Amino acid sequence: MGDSGIALASQLLLVSCIDYRFVIPTAGYMAARGFTGKYYHIGVAGASLGSNRYPDFFSGHLQLLRNSGVDPEMVIIIDHLDCAAYKQWNGGNDSAEAHAQQLCIVGNTLKQFYGAQKPVELLIMKNQAGEIEPVFCK
Ligand SMILES: [Zn+2]
Repeated sequence: MGDSGIALASQLLLVSCIDYRFVIPTAGYMAARGFTGKYYHIGVAGASLGSNRYPDFFSGHLQLLRNSGVDPEMVIIIDHLDCAAYKQWNGGNDSAEAHAQQLCIVGNTLKQFYGAQKPVELLIMKNQAGEIEPVFCK
């Protein structure tokens, strides 16, 4: 592995929804934390919901990163409210509670894949202003 491999090993991983309205707010949130240009990004409809609904898609991406020598220091998953994926795939339930439930499921998947010590942040973006609320699982 060359220089790029060493750099790759210190990256973050972001999982967020494909909704165009939240692309800029999400990038802005990451920028505010100093992460611009430092993260891999899996875009999947519904973020947590799509990751849980299409486990082969999701785990395939995680495995691709692992096979490329990438072991992210932290994983950040950002759901957003008013999400079409939740409305279509989750019986119309787009509540914060529904998002929290799905976020905790994918959080467990990530802990199983990376180990329990891997920092995994589960977040809900409440609006296009980029207001963020963390989710804590039982
Ligand atoms: Zn969405």
